[in-house]
Amino acid sequence: MLFPLALQHRKSALAANFRTLRNRADTATGAAIKANAYGLGVQEVARALLEEGCRDFFVSTWCEAAELHFLPTETLAVLHGLGFGDQPRPGVRPVLVTPGQVARWKASSWSSEPCDVMVDTGMNRLGLVPSELECLEGLSIHTLHSHLACADEEDHPLNAAQLALFRDIRAAVPARRYSLANSAGIYRGREYSFDLVRPGLALYGGIPCTKARGFLKQVTSVWARVIQVRHVPAGDSVGYSATFRAERDTQVAVINIGYADGYRRAFSSLGTARFDGKTLPVIGRVSMDLVTLDASSVPAIQEGEWVELDFDLERCSTLTGISQYELLTGLGQRFQSTWT
Ligand SMILES: *Cc1c(COP(=O)(O)O)cnc(C)c1O
Repeated sequence: MLFPLALQHRKSALAANFRTLRNRADTATGAAIKANAYGLGVQEVARALLEEGCRDFFVSTWCEAAELHFLPTETLAVLHGLGFGDQPRPGVRPVLVTPGQVARWKASSWSSEPCDVMVDTGMNRLGLVPSELECLEGLSIHTLHSHLACADEEDHPLNAAQLALFRDIRAAVPARRYSLANSAGIYRGREYSFDLVRPGLALYGGIPCTKARGFLKQVTSVWARVIQVRHVPAGDSVGYSATFRAERDTQVAVINIGYADGYRRAFSSLGTARFDGKTLPVIGRVSMDLVTLDASSVPAIQEGEWVELDFDLERCSTLTGISQYELLTGLGQRFQSTWT
């Protein structure tokens, strides 16, 4: 089958980002590979990071864990913990997140095995709150986690508050390792690193906070093909709702990507593509399966040609107001992914 759209992922960039984060964190560095490694392809990402020396991988569900048979089980943990009806995979650790899960684990036949635990230090999302920690008595805790709510904001007071509370909990709850920082947390300072950091976004080329600018490489590029080149006379409009009106005669390239592929409608009149060293602005609305580009600067462009959409995550996020996480994980099913 010939795919009409392409994602190109650079393994060297992924590996370089991993090393950059590990150097910065100055401690063991794991990887959040949930949601198909943020859309990049969990098999390839996990293999590449394993080769780089990564020994801690985090997925959200046991279904995701089941797809990773080539990973040594002790390198894998499941962030949603042990839910009703979950069938844990032997050797893979649940990250227990509620007293109910802790009770379920204790009542199971694996209760003497090591598990991970998530404590909530102020995000009020997932995890045991400090008053619930007594139930951990008797567990063999491998890694005790917490998660930062505002790590992308350098001066947000919640960072220091969560750090202080996590230190208190560390003093009270015995575990082999302690882990607090996601991608942005790594940039808050060495004191946030503890024994393990858990980056996701930054591995995949996202810029988690301003301090990270310039240090991380774009991993994924997005390519689409020209279906039609047309000439729009001055005064005519282009696309749904006629939001673009040509001020001069305009060459338009129509490409085969749209919001159904995750090239969001918010890129309408804002996104750009590259062809032959030139920038082609998106004109008019992004449709479900089509985008129109002003290709006046590249007279030679023809049907069948490939163009690269600008998918610099930070820039595109600023442009569209859509988070870098959503831009990555939203990429659809019609792409052929290649790793080089
Ligand atoms: C997703 C996730 C991460 C990774 O977060 P990024 O912001 O992508 O670095 C780390 N820890 C937990 C608990 C997560 O759910």
